[in-house]
Amino acid sequence: MSDSREDRPFDTVDWRRLLSSLGDDPDRPGLRDTPRRLERAWQHWMSGYKQDPAELLTVFEDGAEEYNELIVVRGIPVYSHCEHHLAPFFGTATIGYVPNQRIVGLSKLTRVVDVFAKRLQVQERLTRQIADAMMTHLDPIAVGVIIRCRHLCMESRGIRAIGEETTTSAMLGGLLTNSALRNEFLALDHPR
Ligand SMILES: [Zn+2]
Repeated sequence: MSDSREDRPFDTVDWRRLLSSLGDDPDRPGLRDTPRRLERAWQHWMSGYKQDPAELLTVFEDGAEEYNELIVVRGIPVYSHCEHHLAPFFGTATIGYVPNQRIVGLSKLTRVVDVFAKRLQVQERLTRQIADAMMTHLDPIAVGVIIRCRHLCMESRGIRAIGEETTTSAMLGGLLTNSALRNEFLALDHPR
């Protein structure tokens, strides 16, 4: 992608200015290597911009031809950053889908979540993008995504109670139209 961080020169000057503007001394020993660490850490946290979910969702497991029941995977880790404050939000995702000939390995679901979570996000869009990618690339009969996250920007400023989770969901295909299927999905999604 043309706007990925990799296309721009490695530059620690802005991180130094950030530290200064926060009121600290970027030249004191504890902060001297912080710009370099920040650069590396943010490269990792934003690495989703360089990944394409289509590549992850093109390899299918064998033996799915006859399987048309709901598959639900819970507890998929979510580590993301809100685009309003660059603050972490983190929690877990549940993904459910009814395959249409195509089943992906469980590790692929974790990586699809990561592709979108490792970008600047809002939780609602993250949820929707995961569901849309599943729908586009797997062509399933139904997809549902539920995400529960704690947002440091809200908790640390007292806008939300400590430990309070924000829940978002996206239902597509049969999970949108078939209430029995949706109830089955919701019953299989137990919060930890
Ligand atoms: Zn925020």
